[in-house]
Amino acid sequence: MRGVPERIQLKTEEQIALMREAGLVVARALAQMRAAAAPGVSTLDLDAVARDVLREAGATPSFLNYHGFPAVICASVNERVVHGIPSASEKLSDGDLISIDFGAIIEGWHGDSAISVPIGEVAPEVAELSRVCEASMWDGIAAVRDGGRLTDISHAVESSIRSAGRYGIVAGYGGHGIGSEMHMAPHILNYGKAGKGPRLTPGMALAIEPMVTLGTRATEELDDGWTVVTTDGSWAAHWEHTVALLEDGPWVLTAEDGGRQELTKRGVELSVQAG
Ligand code: MG
Ligand code: MG
Repeated sequence: MRGVPERIQLKTEEQIALMREAGLVVARALAQMRAAAAPGVSTLDLDAVARDVLREAGATPSFLNYHGFPAVICASVNERVVHGIPSASEKLSDGDLISIDFGAIIEGWHGDSAISVPIGEVAPEVAELSRVCEASMWDGIAAVRDGGRLTDISHAVESSIRSAGRYGIVAGYGGHGIGSEMHMAPHILNYGKAGKGPRLTPGMALAIEPMVTLGTRATEELDDGWTVVTTDGSWAAHWEHTVALLEDGPWVLTAEDGGRQELTKRGVELSVQAG
C-alpha cells in the first residue's frame, strides 16, 4: 500500500549460507547454459540444461509455476527484454544476444541471477550494450553498504549507464529483495536520485538487475502474458546477481568468486564469509 513500506526480510548468517548454496547452483547452471548457447540450439534446450543442474543439485526451480510460468529459465532474445518463455522452435542464430534468467531454491531459500550471452559474432554495439549493462549491475552492487540507502543502488546503476552513452534504461522493471521468496520487498528501480528509501542493513539480500536497450525505455508485454519486448524493437541486455549484505561487507551469492574480482576493482571489500 502506498506510504506503508513493506518490511524488508533480514536473514541470519545460516540463512544466507543456504542462499549461497542456491546461488552456486544458479551460477553453475548459467555457466553451463552459456557454454551450450550456440547457433541452432533452441531456448528449450537451454532450459533442459538448467533442469539437469537442478536435479543433480537436489534444488527446486524458482520460476517453474511462478504465477503459472511454464519453464525453469526465462530466455529473452534480442528485442525481448525479460520473461521470454523457452521454446523448442526458437533456435538461436549467429549474431543474437540472449538474456538467460534463472533461479533456484535450497531448503526454501532462493538465488536469482541473469546473464546476457552473445551468440557467435555479434555487432559491436550489441557487445557494448551487454558490457554496459553488466558494468552497471556491478556499480549498483558496489553501492550496497551498511548505512547506505536503497536508491543509492538505483542511482549508481543509472549513472553507470548514462556515463557510457545513450541507452534506454527500461522503465517499470527492476531488482527486488530476495530470501524465502524470490520476489520480496523492496523493489529496486534502475534509475533515480541517491539517498532515498530504506536504510541498507546487514541481513538484507537484494537482486540487482539492470535492463538496458539500444533505443527506448518503453516496453510492452506480448500476448503470451509473459514476454516483455521493447516497443521500438531495439535490442536489450539484462544482467542480474543476488547480493547479501553482512556485518562486514557484501557477498555476491550468485557469483562463483563471491563478487571479489569486480568489487575489488571498485574499491569494495567483501565480507570474510565470501572466503
Ligand atoms: Mg532473475
Ligand atoms: Mg530477479
